[in-house]
Amino acid sequence: MLYTINKGVLEELTGFYERLYYSTLEYFDPMIVSKTLHEIVSKESPEAVLFPCTNKGRMIAGLLAGLTGYDTVTDTVSLKPLSDGFEVIKLTFGGNASATLNVKKPMIACIVSGSYKESETLGSKGEVIEVNAGEHILSVEFSPRKLEGVDPSKADVVVGAGRGVKKKEDLDMIKELASILGGAWSVTRPLAADYGWADAWIGISGLVINPKLYIAIGISGQPHHTMGVRGAKVIVAVNSDESAPIFEDADYGVIGDLYRVVPVLIEKLKKGK
Ligand SMILES: Cc1cc2nc3c(=O)[nH]c(=O)nc-3n(C[C@H](O)[C@H](O)[C@H](O)COP(=O)(O)OP(=O)(O)OC[C@H]3O[C@@H](n4cnc5c(N)ncnc54)[C@H](O)[C@@H]3O)c2cc1C
Repeated sequence: MLYTINKGVLEELTGFYERLYYSTLEYFDPMIVSKTLHEIVSKESPEAVLFPCTNKGRMIAGLLAGLTGYDTVTDTVSLKPLSDGFEVIKLTFGGNASATLNVKKPMIACIVSGSYKESETLGSKGEVIEVNAGEHILSVEFSPRKLEGVDPSKADVVVGAGRGVKKKEDLDMIKELASILGGAWSVTRPLAADYGWADAWIGISGLVINPKLYIAIGISGQPHHTMGVRGAKVIVAVNSDESAPIFEDADYGVIGDLYRVVPVLIEKLKKGK
């Protein structure tokens, strides 16, 4: 089910699928998407229905599970076919452990981003089938998320700020550090959702990022947050508490007051340039 997608992207996708169902929708309407998918699934009888493990993916997976009665697994990182089902590996305890399950066919799985490499094209074009999703059931006002600066999910370097940062104005030094490194800045959930200092946050309920370098500043490193930076190649943490859990995930750590460490870092990087 596609929305806000242009025909060029649709054309490109045909290289990956034997049949590509699409319907143009003005906006994301979970009831319509799940109802239409249910019709397609009833016709196709697939062994597995896969969704990205995003908020929308999980929502539609849940609704479709209700309509089909299929067993459904979220946070899936691996799916291997067995004779009568699938061996599924899923993340548990906020990504700190994994569980292996045998799930019967047909099933629904939400796949964690980055679990699989991009697939090869089929070498031929699939069939494109337009479906009529019908009228919108919900009336929705659409307001896109306002991202200040570079998009963290696309940046090579991301500087993340946590509750160690005491005032909104102090985020300026985080933004400056990100800008010097040519990267993006973001925050933990409390800074965005509770204090309203940013529109988005990094973590399991926010953005999942895969930068080459993630600098976590004044962040304790709770699994809800670190789940979102599992794909980072190198993690550097600055925290005044030497027992902060973030140091277990970090490749490099600075035990110190961010109000002393970050200005020195900025000064050194500026000089280095
Ligand atoms: C269902 C659910 C979903 C959640 N999803 C997310 C999510 O997606 N993303 C997310 O981030 N959180 C999420 N959370 C919240 C998460 O559990 C943590 O509470 C949150 O990540 C903690 O944020 P923090 O590290 O900024 O704050 P804290 O845990 O309060 O840590 C602040 C850190 O700053 C350090 N510090 C303090 N002063 C200084 C200083 N001057 N210099 C250096 N260090 C200093 C402290 O030592 C401490 O380690 C979720 C929670 C729930 C219940």
